[in-house]
Amino acid sequence: MNERMIFPVVAAALVDSAGRVLLQQRPAGKPLAGLWEFPGGKVERGESPEAALIRELAEELEISVASDALTPAGFATEMLPDRHLLLMLYVVREWQGEARPHAATALRWEQPADMASLPMPPADPPLVRQLAACLAWD
Ligand code: C5P
Repeated sequence: MNERMIFPVVAAALVDSAGRVLLQQRPAGKPLAGLWEFPGGKVERGESPEAALIRELAEELEISVASDALTPAGFATEMLPDRHLLLMLYVVREWQGEARPHAATALRWEQPADMASLPMPPADPPLVRQLAACLAWD
């Protein structure tokens, strides 16, 4: 087996009272610039996925989320040239503060059913399908 490093990334589906989910647009100058993604980022060494997501949401959107407000909703993997991306998605229905784009170019709220036409990083569309199933099941 190829000994690739696992590259863990966490992302959040922030769901509002109308069932819409927040996406952010990756800024120019970063990899995958212009694409729409679930907010989140890398899990640092020694950090739990949940702690990483709480940190990323505070950094990227200036919102505060409690660890018991994170519900696992799905995952996707992608082989990169030098590592194996593991992207883990959590549903979040409660947070404090109003989401404001700190790192992103723009934010938009979309129903999962309307996300198929948006350009997203390769690992994200499978998560949209898992999310839709997860929200329909609630
Ligand atoms: O946001 P950041 O650049 O830290 O994310 C690291 C990597 O994680 C991105 O380059 C991308 O490959 C991946 N990612 C993703 N989908 C997301 C968030 C991050 O594929 N929703």
